[in-house]
Amino acid sequence: MNGIDQNATRRADFAVVGGGLVGRLVAWQLAGAGHRVELFERGDALGTQSAAWVAAAMLAPLAEAASAEPLVVGLGAASLEQWPRLIAQLPEPVFFQRNGTLVVWHGADRAEAPLFERRLRANSPADLLDGGFVKLAGAQLTQAEPALGARFAQGWLLPNEGQLDNRQALGALAAGLAARGVRTHWNTPVDATPESTRDARWIIDCRGLGGKPAWPALRGIRGEVARVHAPGIGLSRPVRLLHPRYPLYIAPKENDLYVIGATEVEGEDMSPVSVRSALELLSAAFAVHPGFGEARILELNSHCRPTLPDHRPAIVWDGARTVRVNGLYRHGFMIAPEVADSACRVAEALISGDVANADTFGDFRRAARWPELLHDGHAQRTAAAALSH
Ligand SMILES: Cc1cc2nc3c(=O)[nH]c(=O)nc-3n(C[C@H](O)[C@H](O)[C@H](O)COP(=O)(O)OP(=O)(O)OC[C@H]3O[C@@H](n4cnc5c(N)ncnc54)[C@H](O)[C@@H]3O)c2cc1C
Repeated sequence: MNGIDQNATRRADFAVVGGGLVGRLVAWQLAGAGHRVELFERGDALGTQSAAWVAAAMLAPLAEAASAEPLVVGLGAASLEQWPRLIAQLPEPVFFQRNGTLVVWHGADRAEAPLFERRLRANSPADLLDGGFVKLAGAQLTQAEPALGARFAQGWLLPNEGQLDNRQALGALAAGLAARGVRTHWNTPVDATPESTRDARWIIDCRGLGGKPAWPALRGIRGEVARVHAPGIGLSRPVRLLHPRYPLYIAPKENDLYVIGATEVEGEDMSPVSVRSALELLSAAFAVHPGFGEARILELNSHCRPTLPDHRPAIVWDGARTVRVNGLYRHGFMIAPEVADSACRVAEALISGDVANADTFGDFRRAARWPELLHDGHAQRTAAAALSH
């Protein structure tokens, strides 16, 4: 019929596999650009199977610069500007706050502070530091965060940083997918080789750690959090406690809900939180504010952060039908807007034919905003095979 391939008219342009944080964002944005999109998620619409469900969702590029490299810091700073615009387009409200991060330490651990500051400065662009890193002492600290009283002698306020409510964001994105006509397949795992199982024109693989069969270099870095209800404490922003063994963060959400986390453990252990971790986590929180002694534990939870060997996120085109977006490690919320935007640009370039082979991908990459994110998986495999001969 007029040369139109009937099958092609029925096919989705994109099958997004994995509906955690990145998959939802990518699917929602591609649908917003007018494409036919399907999304396959092994878990439910709430997102309970994702790392994003457990995350504290702090948007803290400067604080993270103490351990993250400049690419991630840059993605985080740019994404922080984007979140309010994205949230404003979602059909449900998402708690978003840009009231800074406070970094404190107990007197006995003061040796941690110069180390942290040195690393943070080394990885941060000057414009992020300018006005973004304020040293506080004594009464200044109490004034900045009255809830802490005079418990800490020194600290730093990173006033431009933010946070959001991870579960509200996942929920609002699910509603956004429905509003934009994305065909969602919840409770539908797609394993090993999604290419062979779906007939969409292109596949965007956003399975996080679940994508490991197709990307063996991925590994999990386990994190554990407590969610507590603690009325009367009144922290106004995320607080990070420097500590040689138990660095801690406490992220206050709406309605006196606090997400308390600390651990980074190598390994893909998805088992429940251990007693030792719970004791350490809650003791450290109690030392920051004794009011946590009366808090009610709503949940102890753990998940693994999807991590690549260089701890950087990556968008890999396989030279054919699949684009993989992964490795967001401990920065998923912090960098997701820019990573998803870059992935969508790759997807648009594929569908328009602007990217069709290694050369055109190379041109596209050179012109991209974040070229370091983009990888030609096919070319890399070919080069590796040539080297091994
Ligand atoms: C304890 C903890 C604290 C964190 N705190 C922060 C923070 O404060 N700030 C921040 O920026 N980041 C934080 N993160 C990191 C953030 O959660 C991750 O970087 C982010 O969730 C990664 O997004 P993703 O979409 O790649 O993976 P995920 O969110 O894990 O989503 C992947 C999805 O793919 C689905 N899936 C997997 N396999 C399959 C399959 N075979 N078929 C179909 N679907 C599949 C999964 O069910 C899941 O929904 C934290 C993470 C943890 C664990």
